[in-house]
Amino acid sequence: MTVTTRFAPSPTGTLHVGNLRTALHNWMFAQKQGGRFLLRIDDTDAERSEEAFVDAIRTDLAWLGLNPDGEERQSARFDRYEVRFEELKAAGRVYPAYETAQELELKRKVLLGRGLPPVYDRAALALTDEDRAKLEAEGIRPHWRFRLDHDAMIEWDDLVRGPQRFDPKTMSDPVVRRADGSWLYLLPSVIDDIDMDITHVVRGEDHVSNTATQLQMFAALGAEAPRFAHEALLTGAEGKLSKRLGSLGIAHFREIGIEPQALIALLARLGTSDPVEPFVDPAPLIESFDFARFGRAPARFDEEELAQLNARIVHQLDYEAVKDRLRAGMTEAGWDAIRPNLSTIAEAADWWSVVEGPIAATIAEEDRPFLAQAADIAATLDWSNPWPALTGALKEATGRKGRTLFLPLRLALTGREHGPDMAALLPLIGKENALVRLRSG
Ligand code: GLU
Repeated sequence: MTVTTRFAPSPTGTLHVGNLRTALHNWMFAQKQGGRFLLRIDDTDAERSEEAFVDAIRTDLAWLGLNPDGEERQSARFDRYEVRFEELKAAGRVYPAYETAQELELKRKVLLGRGLPPVYDRAALALTDEDRAKLEAEGIRPHWRFRLDHDAMIEWDDLVRGPQRFDPKTMSDPVVRRADGSWLYLLPSVIDDIDMDITHVVRGEDHVSNTATQLQMFAALGAEAPRFAHEALLTGAEGKLSKRLGSLGIAHFREIGIEPQALIALLARLGTSDPVEPFVDPAPLIESFDFARFGRAPARFDEEELAQLNARIVHQLDYEAVKDRLRAGMTEAGWDAIRPNLSTIAEAADWWSVVEGPIAATIAEEDRPFLAQAADIAATLDWSNPWPALTGALKEATGRKGRTLFLPLRLALTGREHGPDMAALLPLIGKENALVRLRSG
């Protein structure tokens, strides 16, 4: 049996960090098992689905390096849903219901008012052929409900949540098809999972009660159900389900200079008992991926943690990996010198302009003679390893040490108080530039 997972977004918006995490875990699990990872576009809702979002989803997955082994689309499968729907109809597992949204809402309110769970009362099941004919003659089109089997408990062993148990009598028969013939997500998803040989469904715990009803749909369609893993949802750094998370997507992360590896390293381990670590290569993350390590508590997504992880990833990236994104002329030595100081790759351009100059430096009056002396010494150096040579000679000549020795030099040479290691930077600045900068002080 080939492990097959699927990521099944609805193209009604761009992917947010919670979706990306689901996609990642589906991909990682398939990778680990040597299986297949499918992208399934859940576009049954023609009105809200947009082709632009389908493209954006593909682009986002590609940016993360999560390449699907196949792509499916629900809108291309309506004929198939019809066939299986007819089977369920013939078997009495779906039935027409005629209540309006207002009527249903009223029923709900009455039940809630009596302190009862708002479970659909199955009034439509009691309709006779005559009743139905009358309603249809009035032009009322039915929507369709899946009839839950009330005879047995619904149980499964969730890969994250452990044993799950639902009493179908406490659940409403779910609506699977609207009066206009369009599909709700529940049934097409089951038909797809069967036809596409999905072995593992990995999704957020907001789907747990859907799973209970879907398990009965698998059975009603004569299929074995896949295994399920329902992951705890993400919360914002403040610990609450946050609106902001719903709007954080790849576009935002790219804009602030987050690398795909950082997002993967964080989302792979967030909410698990394994530490979040800056892996540039996902292989060890895949290797250690295990649903048993996922906790049941909501996982906190902290943008600050992501930014820090990103910096630690950037520090490891080779010149080869980044050279196309660097400012023209920036050399490998330049990248190696500058990279330990970066939070994002884009910041490299800023430091490279410091190397190339011109720079603006504010020099304290009392440091001017010292810098003039530094220039004289610098002029005599062969520049193979100028920084230790320069600072060594200056220390001897002036008696300065520590901050009073290094800071004026750094300021004059870079215009900044902090930055990359001067020993790496000074050879890049070059002798000629360095002399000009020291003398202009
Ligand atoms: N389209 C559904 C969603 O985005 C898919 C859920 C599932 O994975 O089955 O919630």
